[in-house]
Amino acid sequence: MKRIRSLAMCFMMMLFFIPAMAEEAGGETGPENKPKVVVLATGGTIAGVGEEGKTAGYQPGTLSVGELLSEVPELADAARIEAIQVCNLNSDDMTAEVWFSLVNTINELAEDPDVKGFVITHGTDTMEETAYFLNLTVKTDKPIVLTGSMRPATSISADGLMNLYEAVCVAASDDAAGKGVLIVFSDRIYAARSVTKTSTYSVTAMSAGEMGAIGIVRDGDVFLYETPAKKHTTETEFDIRGLSALPKVSILYFSVDADPELLRFAAERSNGLVIAGAGAGEFSEEWIEIIKGLTIPVVISSRIDDGVIIKENLLCGNTVAANNLSPQKAAILLRLALAREITKEHLEELYMEY
Ligand code: ASP
Repeated sequence: MKRIRSLAMCFMMMLFFIPAMAEEAGGETGPENKPKVVVLATGGTIAGVGEEGKTAGYQPGTLSVGELLSEVPELADAARIEAIQVCNLNSDDMTAEVWFSLVNTINELAEDPDVKGFVITHGTDTMEETAYFLNLTVKTDKPIVLTGSMRPATSISADGLMNLYEAVCVAASDDAAGKGVLIVFSDRIYAARSVTKTSTYSVTAMSAGEMGAIGIVRDGDVFLYETPAKKHTTETEFDIRGLSALPKVSILYFSVDADPELLRFAAERSNGLVIAGAGAGEFSEEWIEIIKGLTIPVVISSRIDDGVIIKENLLCGNTVAANNLSPQKAAILLRLALAREITKEHLEELYMEY
């Protein structure tokens, strides 16, 4: 508590010193007999600074990775840490360019036998999207764990330091290898494919709905209970080497009286569409008429969190069911799929496999 509040007192000083301190990241800390974990910092509320004690009205992506790590001396009990400041963003400003940089850095460092695992500090708003993208594209079995916080570092009872400590413990554990990309948040371990942010404010904002958490962390001990069944990391057909950008996919959210002309507008400026339909991926007669005439790939997801959409639910023959992927995750899979030539049949298979 004391150490968190002291951050607020240093705030003005940090404004001047952040760029210099970020450049210092990259050194290694921790006892030699511990596994090495690489912490890749991208920003978010975990690196957020605001009015002392308050939870809202702060600036995300302010503290450097060095400043964050220095607040958790207990990390030395779990791992040797190498820190890299990838960027320092509000995660609503995350881009495919940063995703590529994360994948390339992880693929390269994973070759080093001394590296046990990776932690990515990230804003919670789009954490699940980065996690799912990495889950489909990185080529290593080593643990990759994303974490963040709901309260800025300067608030009362900020949650970031415990989340960071627990994420490092998971990344350093043997059991987390081969489970795909994970999110550690509020003592729980989630698989990248099923986790989503479900609260705008709660410190238990991450949840995997009906799929549930796959493990728990207590005082640095890691308990894993499930193995994700869907293909990930080394088993996928996606390889971003040679790609410099991703196709554009837009998500359209259906509601009563939703303007069907938005579909035409989005289709003209996109390579593919994802529809967040009502219930099992449904929408109005007006929407059906326009969607049936679209010539770009259209994937049907739902604005409902739980459940699955299957082929038999589809209202338009030219569309593909997203299975139980959320609209934002269905869009990531579609962007990767459209990065090469693909048939409708192959696209349907991808939504069953991933
Ligand atoms: N807007 C912040 C972000 O996603 C929220 C958070 O980190 O909790 O970067």
